[in-house]
Amino acid sequence: MPRADDEALRILRSAAITAPPVDVDRLARELGATVLKDDLDPEVSGLLYRRPDSTVIAVNRDHAGTRRRFTIAHELGHLRLHDGRPLIVDHVVRARVNLRDERSSLATSREEIEANRFAATLLMPPDFVHAQMHGVLKKGLGEQATIEALARKFGVSTQAMEIRLTNLGLRAAV
Ligand SMILES: [Zn+2]
Repeated sequence: MPRADDEALRILRSAAITAPPVDVDRLARELGATVLKDDLDPEVSGLLYRRPDSTVIAVNRDHAGTRRRFTIAHELGHLRLHDGRPLIVDHVVRARVNLRDERSSLATSREEIEANRFAATLLMPPDFVHAQMHGVLKKGLGEQATIEALARKFGVSTQAMEIRLTNLGLRAAV
């Protein structure tokens, strides 16, 4: 199992979280991070700021709650998986690739993929999705309404849930 998944599931287990919606604010506190809703640039979804004595996750207060939850989970991924940089700023649209610095751009993009993977697993663990899906499918809601119902249960956007179902190989089941 990729270490992003492994770490996200380990954190859920140690916090004894067994059903959605995953309380990311509580997890952030337990992992030593203070979460602030901040007046950030519209292009910035969130940031992680590590100092020797404190860790701050700032999220864009103008973004929807579901998006802020994903951003907090993404920053927790950086916190747990990526040592080194004291400040990580995440943009809504990927910053232009700096061609003179291609190697470091690639490294950053690997970290972004990993942080997104961690966030998806933290908010939508496979076991939780399978369990909820069973209940929702019984209602026979139809495709879009099923995805929306699952998204609400997990506190994520419809788009995030749709991507998750695809990645778990469950999209065809909806
Ligand atoms: Zn990031």
